[in-house]
Amino acid sequence: MRAAVTQGLGSVLLEDRPGPGGPVAGETVVRVEAVGICGSDLHLLHGDLGATHEGLLPRVQGHEFSAVVAAADPAGSGPPVGTRVAVWPVLACGTCRPCREGRVNVCRRLALIGVHRDGALQEQLTVPTAAAVATPTLSSVQAALVEPVSIGVHAAARARVSPGDTVVVFGAGPIGAASALAARDRGGDVLVVDPVDARRDLLARAGFGVTWAEGAELAGQVLAHSGPDGPDVVLDTTGRAALLPTVLDVAGHGGRVAVVGLTSATAPTSPGPIPFKELDVLGVSCCTRDEFAAAADLVARHPALADSLVSHVFPLDEVAGALALLDERPTEAVKVLVDVSGDTRLPTGPGAGDPMTGAFR
Ligand SMILES: [Zn+2]
Ligand SMILES: [Zn+2]
Repeated sequence: MRAAVTQGLGSVLLEDRPGPGGPVAGETVVRVEAVGICGSDLHLLHGDLGATHEGLLPRVQGHEFSAVVAAADPAGSGPPVGTRVAVWPVLACGTCRPCREGRVNVCRRLALIGVHRDGALQEQLTVPTAAAVATPTLSSVQAALVEPVSIGVHAAARARVSPGDTVVVFGAGPIGAASALAARDRGGDVLVVDPVDARRDLLARAGFGVTWAEGAELAGQVLAHSGPDGPDVVLDTTGRAALLPTVLDVAGHGGRVAVVGLTSATAPTSPGPIPFKELDVLGVSCCTRDEFAAAADLVARHPALADSLVSHVFPLDEVAGALALLDERPTEAVKVLVDVSGDTRLPTGPGAGDPMTGAFR
């Protein structure tokens, strides 16, 4: 079978590999359909995961994916052959303190399919049966979006978004859109902030408030949405270190701030607003199994919005091109998918495939 293998930093080659053997109890073999490429894939590609990067390469990447069951769990517990699934990529030890507390997404020995284990940029792989969530009503494209949407579900849950809360989401990429959708689903009144017209338009068409302004004017735009008390919740999905002072600045007194975007960059930030306004500042990493299933349900209730997030589809033998697009021209893309099965098409419909310019980077 074909597998796109990240051989070393910045190098991805297509290899012919033997397929997985038959699954043992607790495992399911799946045939991969579509795979989303995300910012964390680029971190691995470029070796900027720091000390945690040791021993990760060579690796088949791909942690956001849809697949069809090719060989069912012999224990008989899992989805039958032919079922379309989305796969929760979290592998947790089950014994460390966060695992014992049910926060398996921050397991001390966390391993992710597609980062620490070979992932979905290959034709077939073996996954834990418990991680395979049946998505019978979703298309292969929509099922591949469950993983990024699950980050938004976890972000909105971490920030305890409640009915009537005013919520400001920084960033209108796939994670920003997912966070906005999850926050609205919990009853939040959502404003999305992004400098890119096309990204704002996409979310405005989905019924979200959107805005952008430079510098101090941005706080005014946010207050115009939330009222003078400021927003109850701010979700920062941008991964931009330099934006954090603005995020803390616009949050309302007693508010919750969830930081979703990963970065190793630094920028000066005063801790002052955190005690002064007694902000709850919360980190967001991956999600729990229940939240992943909730994300599949959320996508099923909003298929058109999910479709509209996909801007590009590349064949498996052009994975390097998909990565290069996100790396070199990120503002032209929203969600880039790799078509592993050979029958994934770019969704058509309002907003699908809009070119982007000038996003948060
Ligand atoms: Zn991702
Ligand atoms: Zn653990």
